[in-house]
Amino acid sequence: MPSLPVLVLNSGSSSIKFSLYQACDSTQTKLFEGAVDGIGTDLGKFWIKDAAGKKLVDQTPALPTRAVAFKLVADALHSGSYPAPAAIGHRMVCGGPTVQKNQLITSELIDEMERYTAFAPLHTPIAVYIMREALRLFPGVPNFVCLDTYFHRTMPEVVTHMPIPEEYSAMGVRRYGYHGISYESIVYQLQPNVPGRLIVAHLGNGASISAIRNGQCLDTSMGLTPTGGIISGTRTGDIDPGVLLFILRKIAQTTESASAAADQLEIVASKKAGLLGVSGRSNDMRELREAIRDGDAKARLAVDKFVWTIAKWIGSFVAELGGLDMLVFTGGIGENDIATRAEICAGLGALGIMLDPERNNTRGKATISADNSPARVRVIPPAEDLIIVNHVVRLLGE
Ligand code: AMP
Repeated sequence: MPSLPVLVLNSGSSSIKFSLYQACDSTQTKLFEGAVDGIGTDLGKFWIKDAAGKKLVDQTPALPTRAVAFKLVADALHSGSYPAPAAIGHRMVCGGPTVQKNQLITSELIDEMERYTAFAPLHTPIAVYIMREALRLFPGVPNFVCLDTYFHRTMPEVVTHMPIPEEYSAMGVRRYGYHGISYESIVYQLQPNVPGRLIVAHLGNGASISAIRNGQCLDTSMGLTPTGGIISGTRTGDIDPGVLLFILRKIAQTTESASAAADQLEIVASKKAGLLGVSGRSNDMRELREAIRDGDAKARLAVDKFVWTIAKWIGSFVAELGGLDMLVFTGGIGENDIATRAEICAGLGALGIMLDPERNNTRGKATISADNSPARVRVIPPAEDLIIVNHVVRLLGE
C-alpha cells in the first residue's frame, strides 16, 4: 500500500486532540499534532505543532460549542497548509456489545454505538458527534473506529461476565475494560520480547490496570463503565453497591424523577469521587503531592487509597497470571510521579517487585527495577495514536 496521510481524532469532554501521520504498512511518520481545548468556554486554546515541536498555530479562540471547535480543526486541515487526510481513525471508548471490532464507520454503525451511550456516558456523546461531523466535513474520506474495548476482547467469560440476573447480561451488561489502545501500544512497544506474564498500570486522570498473558488481555480492572476498577481522579472505582444505593436514596429525597436522581448519582460517582472526593481538594496528583508536602491529611489519605488499591490489584493479577515477569507503569502519573511508583512497589517485594530508588528517580521511558528484582519494572509512555494509525492502515488494506 502507498504511504498515505492518516488523521487521528481523539475527542474528550472539553477537548479534541488530533494528529496526522504519513503511514504505510511498514512506516508511520508523525507530521503534526494539535488540539482544541476548553470547549464551552470563551477562551479556548487551539494549537498545532510539527513533529519537531515547533508551534504552527497558537490561538485562543472562543469555543462555545463542539461544532465551532471541530470546524476550526477541519478548516485548518482543508486550508492547504497540511496534507489532506486520506483516511481518519477515531478513538472510541466503547461501542457496546455489538460493535467490538475496529472497522469502517457508516452512519448506521454510529447509530448502533450510540445505543450504548450508558456504558461510557461521558465519552460516547462527543465521540459519535465528532464521527458524524467528520463524515460530513471530509466527504469521500474513509473513517474508521478504533475501540478501547478491542484489546480486552480476549478476556475469558469468567472475567467478563457480571454476577447479575441473566436479563441484564442479555442487554450487554458485562466487563468491557478501557484504556485498551494504551495497553495495546505498550505490548506493541515491547515487541518482539513481550513477556509472558505482564501487568500494565495505566495511571492517569483515569486509571486502570491490566493482566496480560503472552500479549493478550487476561483481566482488567475497569468494568462495564470506566467508573469501575481502581479509584481514579474523580471516579469511585469498584465500590460496595450498597454505597451507591444509599447515595441514590438520599438524592431521590430531593429529586423529581428517577432519571434525574440517576444522573446526579452518575455525577457523584464519576466526577466528584476518587482522589477529588477523598481529598476534598483536587483530582490532580501534582496538586495532591504539594498538599501532602504542606501536611494535608486528606490529600495523604486520598493518595494512600490510590496506592493501596493499585497494590491490591497487582497482587491479585500476579496470582491470576501465576507469577510476574514485568510490571509497566504508564499514563501521566505512571510516567511522572516517582513517589506513587515507589509507594505502590514498597510492599510488593514478596511478589518479586523490587525498585531501584535511583533508577526510579526519573520521568519518561526507563527500567526502574533493581538488578536482583525477579520481575522487571519499566516506565513506558503510551503511543495510542500510532496504534490507531496502524489499525487504519490495516483496515484500508482489507
Ligand atoms: P493523564 O490523564 O495521563 O494526562 O494524567 C494526568 C495525571 O498525571 C494528573 O493527575 C497529573 O497530576 C499527573 N501528572 C502529570 N505530570 C506529573 C508530574 N510531573 N508529577 C506527578 N504527577 C503528574
